[in-house]
Amino acid sequence: MSRFLNEKYQGLEAYTPGEQPQDMIYIKLNTNESPYPPSPSVLQSIGQGQLEQLRLYSDPESTRLRNKLAAAYGVGPKQVYVANGSDDILHFAFMAFGNPKTGVAFPAISYGFYKVFADLHQLPGFPIPLKADFSIDVQDYLGLKQLIVIANPNAPTGLVLSLAEIEEILKTNRHNVVVIDEAYIDFGGESCCSFIGQYENLLVVQTFSKSRSMAGARLGFALGNQALIEDLERLKYATNPYNINRLTLLAGEAAIEDQAYYREKCRLIAQTREYTADRLRQLGFTVLPSKANFLFACHENISGQTLYQELKQRGILIRHFSTPAIEAYNRITIGTRAQMEQFLLQTAELLAQRP
Ligand code: PMP
Repeated sequence: MSRFLNEKYQGLEAYTPGEQPQDMIYIKLNTNESPYPPSPSVLQSIGQGQLEQLRLYSDPESTRLRNKLAAAYGVGPKQVYVANGSDDILHFAFMAFGNPKTGVAFPAISYGFYKVFADLHQLPGFPIPLKADFSIDVQDYLGLKQLIVIANPNAPTGLVLSLAEIEEILKTNRHNVVVIDEAYIDFGGESCCSFIGQYENLLVVQTFSKSRSMAGARLGFALGNQALIEDLERLKYATNPYNINRLTLLAGEAAIEDQAYYREKCRLIAQTREYTADRLRQLGFTVLPSKANFLFACHENISGQTLYQELKQRGILIRHFSTPAIEAYNRITIGTRAQMEQFLLQTAELLAQRP
């Protein structure tokens, strides 16, 4: 830290991203990326002509992409906001809708960035404990005063809230914004974006990183009533108007056009998830019923940390969190069937070697 850093950031505990090793190739099941490439139309969307256009700034309004998203999700273009990854949107949502007097409520075990964004904007954070089975207790979120942020499905558990549960939260929090982070919704949960017309306090955040195989392109979007979207736009024009680069815009437009491709890949991933969960249970693991593209699992004969380390030595990366409440667990991204067979084989071997 230099002696020049603004003192308000000196104690900031930053987010630790999952490992992105550049030195060797792993079977990479640690950061919930898709094992499949983006749609062929995405690959075709960028040619020599598009690369030459890089001399020009991108469209600050992302008009074409917003129009396509609006059509795909049944909302108006002014109800769509797009940004450089959904992290960027979540950040702006904390900045725009977090009130320093009331703060932000979110599940105590959830996406690690929520606490970081709260700290960054000096918003009091209210982490709400999960139930013993790791599910969210909706009762805890009724009639709050804070900005509410909930991942549905939650991460790293993969557990979902029903639409009825989300609606209860929306109904009883008319004076505060409710952000539903649907990063993993396409793998089996039910999106609450149909509530947008009814609840002006709802902001739904989604991403191209998981179901549309575009984590490296950095593209996220939010759906919500026009006034909320204008608030996010206001922050964008105050920080980085050309927030999405030209190549990502083109890739995003092409991805949205090819609904069949992404639906098929989501189906395949959900099928591989169920297969992997069954096989892990046969090996003695406790596996939460996930609706995301990952599983959250633990085994009484091997610690989460040891399984992570030993698999890494065998060329397989999974995610381990050192948070005490979940340190027995690992989060395993669903890869291709062949990758999961390798993971299961190595895991079974490790378990067999233990006393
Ligand atoms: N929300 C959740 C719950 C996530 O797990 C992630 C990915 N780490 C994100 C948002 C951010 O995704 P991205 O910035 O790639 O859109």
